[in-house]
Amino acid sequence: MPANPRAALIGTGPQLLRPESTTVTETLSAVPAVVRDVYATVQARDPHEPEFQQAVHEVLESIAPVLEAHPEFVDGGIVERLVEPERQILFRVPWIDDRGRLQVSRGFRVQFSSVLGPYKGGLRFHPSVNLSIIKFLGFEQIFKNALTGQGIGGAKGGSDFDPHGRSDAEIMRFCQSFMNELYRHLGEHTDVPAGDIGVGAREIGYLFGQYRKITNRHESGMFTGKGVQWGGAEVRTEATGYGAVFFAQEMLAMRGASLEGARVAVSGSGNVAIYAIKKAWQLGATPVTASDSSGYVVDEAGIDVDLLRDIKERERSRISEYAARRPTARFVEGSRPWQVPVDIAIPSATQNELGEGDARTLIANGVRAVAEGANMPSTPGAVAAFQAADVLFGPGKAANAGGVATSALEMSQNAARQRWSFDDSETKLRAIMKAVHDAAFDAAARYGRPGDYVVGANSAGFERVAHAMLAQGVI
Ligand code: NDP
Repeated sequence: MPANPRAALIGTGPQLLRPESTTVTETLSAVPAVVRDVYATVQARDPHEPEFQQAVHEVLESIAPVLEAHPEFVDGGIVERLVEPERQILFRVPWIDDRGRLQVSRGFRVQFSSVLGPYKGGLRFHPSVNLSIIKFLGFEQIFKNALTGQGIGGAKGGSDFDPHGRSDAEIMRFCQSFMNELYRHLGEHTDVPAGDIGVGAREIGYLFGQYRKITNRHESGMFTGKGVQWGGAEVRTEATGYGAVFFAQEMLAMRGASLEGARVAVSGSGNVAIYAIKKAWQLGATPVTASDSSGYVVDEAGIDVDLLRDIKERERSRISEYAARRPTARFVEGSRPWQVPVDIAIPSATQNELGEGDARTLIANGVRAVAEGANMPSTPGAVAAFQAADVLFGPGKAANAGGVATSALEMSQNAARQRWSFDDSETKLRAIMKAVHDAAFDAAARYGRPGDYVVGANSAGFERVAHAMLAQGVI
């Protein structure tokens, strides 16, 4: 009989539909039987949530040594509790488009864990959003937030609303309707959202404004990523992209290398990608690619970040426009930038955008380090290929933690009614990324997997959460 009787009652459920997935028994053989049963329960309970299962699998696979060293975590049912969100909110978002027609979108907020602090995690507006994607992001957020050392819990939310091609007025009406429901679940001591794909400064403004209107409270700390003129923190906009490059720099330094003179491939052309490109330039590297959902551009002279911002942020146009205006660049339709020979890759668009075949191409072309700006952009097969080839690999949980860490700094400034300078804030971000790197590096070494930042990040984050859960009892 399995150690977890519930797994036997429910059955094992269908297998994952991911092409590159590995079977549970193969890769979870090192973890205690009770944990394998927890995974079987997740598969059975959430059979239509492949991204969530992928995220859970990755964490469970890498924390086996932690569970062995801490039997009290197994006895305390930490894993059983962590895979189940504390609360999931699903809601209707009705809104009227510019032609006067009723539209109905779906809203989500999954509050995963508040054991270390108020729920914290972004909102994503993208047509692909569903419960599986929000749960995978929320689950990852628990450990990422713990790894930053700040007092923040884990959550994620969003909607299947597609902002592309919508007018400002439609975006505003949608955001107001979204907040009409979600406001009751938020608050500076309860749950503090931020941006993610499709949610930038414009959307945060409309969402914050509606919260203020409904609650009659100017509660600055209930949202992060606000405009710097109305409670936002310096460097929050830049933090995730800058942080990913700082993380790459830390990994390279462990091998006596640096970014100086390196060619860098960045995917995406949104918030994370733009500031990863900017910081790569500042640290002496040459970023040569950017992308969006239509394809990628390669620019042998290096990406002109101001032109990219004009096209993607201000004009909200497609990436092909960059190549149309820049003689040194060419546009490759319907493809991702991983065929371009580079020293460093910073995937910064979306989940599962870099597969095992892409990883093998990057390795054959001499890639030395990968720092994930996006959440879970590399498939499990790609991660395994990088690690087998001894390529430095920084998982998103660690490498993109600069965004949420700077959000926590924004919350501190809001609480103290203070505003720190850009330089001070960037210095703090730099120090946080070094601390995140060192925590992951040290945990990997402590648990017998030196240089494995996946094991390190998961173990260090999990330890912090598990100790707090044990101390706070069964709730
Ligand atoms: P943005 O909306 O600013 O930009 C997203 C970029 O990725 C756009 O260029 C978009 O192209 C592209 N993209 C989105 N979906 C796809 C897809 N299915 N295929 C190909 N390209 C796609 O989002 P962010 O830059 O904020 O977020 C990017 C990633 O970083 C996400 O994984 C997010 O979770 C993660 N992240 C973000 C943080 C932040 O602070 N913003 C913090 C930590 C992680 P298009 O314009 O065509 O849609």
